[in-house]
Amino acid sequence: MPRGISASASINFEAKKGHSIMQEEFGTIEKAFRILTTRLGTSKVVSSGTDYEKTRNIWNAAVQLYPQIVVLCENTSDVQAAVLAAASCKLSFSVRGGGHDWAGRSVNGQVVADLTRMRGVAIDGHVATIGGGTISTDLAEAASAQGLTAVTGIIGSVGVAGLALGGGYGHLTAKFGMALDNIVGAEVVLADGRVIQTDETQEPDLFWAIRGGGGNFGVVTQLRLKLHPVANIADGIIAFPWEQAGEVFKAYSAMIATLPDGLTVMPTFFAAPDGKLSIVFHLAWCGDQAQDERMIERVKSLGAPTTVQVSRKTLAEVLKEAERRTMTGIHWIVRTVTLPELTPASIQVIRRAMEHRSSPLSWIASHPFYGAGERIPLRSTAFGIRTRHFMVGIYTAWQPGEEAPHRAWADGVEAALKPFALTSSYPNYFGTDRPDQAAQAYGENAGRLLSLKQRYDPNRLFNAISLPESSSKI
Ligand SMILES: Cc1cc2nc3c(=O)[nH]c(=O)nc-3n(C[C@H](O)[C@H](O)[C@H](O)COP(=O)(O)OP(=O)(O)OC[C@H]3O[C@@H](n4cnc5c(N)ncnc54)[C@H](O)[C@@H]3O)c2cc1C
Repeated sequence: MPRGISASASINFEAKKGHSIMQEEFGTIEKAFRILTTRLGTSKVVSSGTDYEKTRNIWNAAVQLYPQIVVLCENTSDVQAAVLAAASCKLSFSVRGGGHDWAGRSVNGQVVADLTRMRGVAIDGHVATIGGGTISTDLAEAASAQGLTAVTGIIGSVGVAGLALGGGYGHLTAKFGMALDNIVGAEVVLADGRVIQTDETQEPDLFWAIRGGGGNFGVVTQLRLKLHPVANIADGIIAFPWEQAGEVFKAYSAMIATLPDGLTVMPTFFAAPDGKLSIVFHLAWCGDQAQDERMIERVKSLGAPTTVQVSRKTLAEVLKEAERRTMTGIHWIVRTVTLPELTPASIQVIRRAMEHRSSPLSWIASHPFYGAGERIPLRSTAFGIRTRHFMVGIYTAWQPGEEAPHRAWADGVEAALKPFALTSSYPNYFGTDRPDQAAQAYGENAGRLLSLKQRYDPNRLFNAISLPESSSKI
């Protein structure tokens, strides 16, 4: 029976963390539960227990949401059942992939379609077909085993669909564009339950919308992604002392325009476990191995490095290595701004912020966007920005406890960087509490995106990354 509903007819309206179930709502939840268990059996439809807890516990431990019904989907038909039950009973709905949306949008529906059992990768030539719940490591490993590489983000446990539908910056962005630029097709369950194949020729409008518009148009049960004949890359870090920030970033800014597409150099601002701050550039070179040393020297020449750790690895190894450094059980707030360039003034804001951060666990990173992604026409996908930029992620992390100082720090850094920022920012990172960012993120693509939202999901069943509120541009 659904959460808070006892097996006997005597009903316990259980209040969970401020969520109380009203009589009318209870009726619809019970109806959806019956529809689902009739169609799928009881083992795939849960409202408590180990599988339920696994679904609702996501990367950000600060998110504690209690969906009413979790559908443990194993195939497209299960997803279809979940969508139809939520839609017909007028219940809110969300999709749980890798569970890395910091704002918890994967588990904020009354009905959650959990895709974590839909992990799988099949490779045919240079195209991978993956299940909707596949994580980045699954894809990278399967591709690496065939001497190929996929375009993912930098952490292995992030869901590929969640990442790619909203964007997908990573180590190969300069060479192959964003993850979304490597989508060649998808199978999507629409709000009315239809299962649609989409690509450049089939349902091309839907294909356009899902490349940047996130999971707002349907549940992606399969994605087809381009792979590249790159067996391994030179990958690693080159760190500089904090005091050299001024000169290092001056040199970095001058260097960006001269970098080959194969070299992505991502600046991050970190504290070592001893609390010592440093500037760490993550270097990824996917060109000729004979050029590795030359590329490393280019980055070393930005200043007087303290650490140089670069070697040849498969993308799967790169992602696994990064995964080992990620923290679990921590509370997070993520803020973002997109800067057109890293100027001395914006670097000074970031330096000050790191020196006065509210928690030793917090850090700031900047994904550079140049090269192949810049040359893709803005109107060819829904993603809202194609000019050169730096997507800054402000990651506020603290051990479970008082939130206010950390929220204030994150908001303060965001506000201090705003005067230097572009209007567009990264939809996978700004939260539901940033309607101003949602309004601007898609730029010239907002009107088409909203009109397609109206066409494919008129009752707004799907609420993934935030879309602009206004329909004035339709
Ligand atoms: C540790 C960490 C590292 C990250 N690294 C990067 C990075 O390198 N580059 C980058 O660009 N971003 C990065 N991100 C952001 C990340 O791409 C987004 O948070 C992404 O949405 C996560 O996807 P998910 O499936 O893991 O998360 P979920 O929380 O499961 O899903 C995120 C959103 O996508 C929807 N969704 C998921 N799967 C589907 C599907 N199959 N069909 C329809 N909707 C779906 C969900 O409903 C939800 O709204 C990172 C985030 C974290 C926490």
